[in-house]
Order: sequence, then C-alpha cells, then structure tokens
Amino acid sequence: MHENASARTCVAANRRAAEAALRKAASAAGRDPAEIALCAVSKKQPEPRLQAALDAGQRLFGENRVQEAAGRWAGLKERMPDLRLHLIGPLQTNKAREAVALFDRIETLDREKLAASLARAMDRQGRRIPCCIQVNTGAEPGKSGIAPQVLPEFLARCTETYGLTVDGLMCIPPRTEPAALHFALLARLGARHGLPFLSMGMSGDFETAVRLGATSVRLGTAFFGTRPQTQA
Ligand SMILES: *Cc1c(COP(=O)(O)O)cnc(C)c1O
Repeated sequence: MHENASARTCVAANRRAAEAALRKAASAAGRDPAEIALCAVSKKQPEPRLQAALDAGQRLFGENRVQEAAGRWAGLKERMPDLRLHLIGPLQTNKAREAVALFDRIETLDREKLAASLARAMDRQGRRIPCCIQVNTGAEPGKSGIAPQVLPEFLARCTETYGLTVDGLMCIPPRTEPAALHFALLARLGARHGLPFLSMGMSGDFETAVRLGATSVRLGTAFFGTRPQTQA
C-alpha cells in the first residue's frame, strides 16, 4: 500500500520533470516538442510503477524482452487501445511472431534473417508494424546493430526484398565515448536515407539527443527510478 503510494508520487513527478526537460531541450534546439516522443522504458520495473505511469497518462512504453513484455502488457493492451509498445532490445527470430503480435514498433532490426522472420510474421498476422534499423555506430564488437557502411544495402533488402516498413534508426552509443558523436552520425544517416524516426538518447543523455534530432527518447531510470537489481 505504502509502496504503491510512493511509486505513484515518484513516477508522476519524474514524468513531469522529464517532460519539462524535453520541452526545454527542444526549444533550446529550435524544435517543436510535439515531434519528440517520450518512450518510458519499463523493463525490470515493478508493477506498481507501471500502474503509476499509466495513471499519470503515459501511453508509450519500451521493453527489451518479448517474454517479459508479454507477461505484463498483453492483457492491458486489450483493454487500452491507445497503449503503444516499442521493442528496444535484441530480437531472436523464434520470437518474431510474438513480437509482431504485441509490439507497435520494432526498433532493433539488425540482420537479414530477422527481417525475413518479421516479414513472415506480419504477413501471417495481417499486421504491418514499422521498424527501425539498429546501427552499431561505435562499431563495437559483439554489440547489436549493423555497421553504418552497410546501411544502404541492408535497408534496400529490408524494404524491397522483404517489404518491411522501415522509417527510422536506433542506436546505443558506446559508454566510453561522447554520445553526441553517435547521435550526430545517426541523424546524418537518417537524413541521407529518408528515415525520419530517430530513437536515440537515454536517461543520461537525452537532452543531447534532442539537440541532435531525436524523435523518440528512451527513458528508464529518469522516468521510473532505479531498476531493482535482479538475479541473472
Ligand atoms: C534499458 C534501456 C534504456 C533505458 O536506460 P536508462 O538509462 O535507464 O534510461 C534505453 N534504451 C535501451 C535499449 C535499453 O535497453
């Protein structure tokens, strides 16, 4: 009871603060705040905080695992037609069907086999959802995302061969470098290839991302508070 009450207060206040910071960053950059979405990253967050976010009016959420997201959101989605979910974590091909059924956008398209699985799942379900290609802007080994150099050919494969709707890009900058360089690169790539949706910026760097053209920022801790530690 007490925990729920404090979750409500914290999340509502965090949300107001994040929205104010977004508006400020947008106007400092001469941008319209209305063109920047706040995606609340709810992964690993306890249920009372999700409920608090919904009560405060939040309708766009990001999750990084299909299973976890399905468990907490599938029922709610049926009751709340305006709820929107973005998949922001790596997607295995064997989860493509479930992901297409649940999510409203896939932000982590990063290989041809996944493009094929998503296309098949969308055809079967008669449901087309937009996708972002994830770009490994820092060329970090072992990190999700395509190399920037292969974007033109990968984009063509996704749209022409598989008929996917790709309208944006997503990146997670390396921890060890200034994020601004990576956001600027992603924005350049988006402009060059006609991809207007730019998912970039997290709790620590979303203002920089807004300055450089983000249209969707992914806020976890800044929105919900620290994620409880879970055993791996
Ligand atoms: C967890 C996560 C976030 C949110 O991170 P915070 O630093 O808590 O805002 C954003 N994007 C992705 C891809 C994530 O996995």
